[in-house]
Amino acid sequence: MLRFASTRDPAREPVDFDTALLNGLAPDGGLYLPTVTPRLPAGWDDADSLADLAARVLPAWLQPEDADETELADVLREALSFPVPLVQISPQRFVLEVFHGPTLSFKDVGARTMARLVARALDRRGDRLTILVATSGDTGSAVADGFAGQSAIDVVLLYPDGMVSEVQERQLTVARPGVRTFAVRGDFDDCQRLVKQAFVDPELAEVGLSSANSINIGRLLPQSLYYLWASLQLAALGVDPASAAYCVPSGNLGNLTAGVMAKRAGMPGGRFVAAHNRNDFFPGFLTGEREAFAFKRTLQTPSNAMDVGAPSNFERLHAMLGDEISDWVWGVAVGDDATLARIRAEAQAGYLACPHTAVGLEGADAYRSASGHDGPVVTLATAHPAKFPGVLERALGRPGPRSPRLEALAGAETAVSPLEPTLDALRQALT
Ligand SMILES: *Cc1c(COP(=O)(O)O)cnc(C)c1O
Repeated sequence: MLRFASTRDPAREPVDFDTALLNGLAPDGGLYLPTVTPRLPAGWDDADSLADLAARVLPAWLQPEDADETELADVLREALSFPVPLVQISPQRFVLEVFHGPTLSFKDVGARTMARLVARALDRRGDRLTILVATSGDTGSAVADGFAGQSAIDVVLLYPDGMVSEVQERQLTVARPGVRTFAVRGDFDDCQRLVKQAFVDPELAEVGLSSANSINIGRLLPQSLYYLWASLQLAALGVDPASAAYCVPSGNLGNLTAGVMAKRAGMPGGRFVAAHNRNDFFPGFLTGEREAFAFKRTLQTPSNAMDVGAPSNFERLHAMLGDEISDWVWGVAVGDDATLARIRAEAQAGYLACPHTAVGLEGADAYRSASGHDGPVVTLATAHPAKFPGVLERALGRPGPRSPRLEALAGAETAVSPLEPTLDALRQALT
């Protein structure tokens, strides 16, 4: 059976998938990694949808009892019920639109799948738990939407007050069954720190906390699938997937780590570009200008779901790749003006990108110039542009695209409470 060990103390007894899934963070504060990476099964490349891919690839990672269950395939079909199209925007430039889920960002893929895996694990154990999530925008709504209404699961969301867009805030604060939302008086790093403290706090041990941030292996794993799905779509277009690079608009580096896991499992191709905004710790680390874990304070940018000074998955990526990390990943930091200019330029050429995707498209071209790579680059389009009307309007000088799904939220009932950025305040809220 596949086992998962902590990045901090790999010699400690490794755990099974359900335990890693329900713990989120390892007891020593590290992140779970599989002790070996399962190879992609024969026939993975015959899959005809993301859900079909999931049903073929995921069983090797999960509990042995999941290996031949058709029920698992049904659950995955329900979780991954939206398209993930590869769109060609010029001869060698592709975007993989991972944002067609219910909350319009790629985070629906991980959150919806994880929610169902957690519900099955709790059912097996006759247990219940509270999912505690810090969000800089898109995670919270994806997690709230994915987990809401599961009978054995409560959800608590923390987001930095005043630092998410109006649309994101509305998506976060919509009243949902089993979900409580707090606006924290601090920044995203405060939210993330609170979550980390809560997990190791003895006073909160009995609450049964777990995470659904991208530190959770249950969210990361499904995100590997759409890289495989992109490579199948490239092949279907007659493009050699082995020649492709993947450019990933990055914040906490969960998405990028999932891509690296796909490649380790045997995905063809895949040099990775980590496209960050001005929060440039990781690009600085890759060029040797910055020590590992010498994190920086968070800066606010137009791509706010990537405003992360201390990427939580860095520890995992670093543990996985060690000194090879700069052979696998090339990093770039994109400024705010360049991001807005890129939105404008792509719109003129016919493609409307959200600010995060624009950082990616800018990063992809920077990679091409710096490396001489002349093959295809697939940039992940991580959110629908309609989620960021303010930025789009600033970039285009006119209102951006709309989404009926978002407009339907305008009249919905909301529920949110303020929270001071202290462990004490969080304890009170949780107990
Ligand atoms: C979360 C998010 C990112 C960053 O992804 P990480 O896995 O944290 O690196 C990029 N774009 C959008 C739209 C997001 O919501």
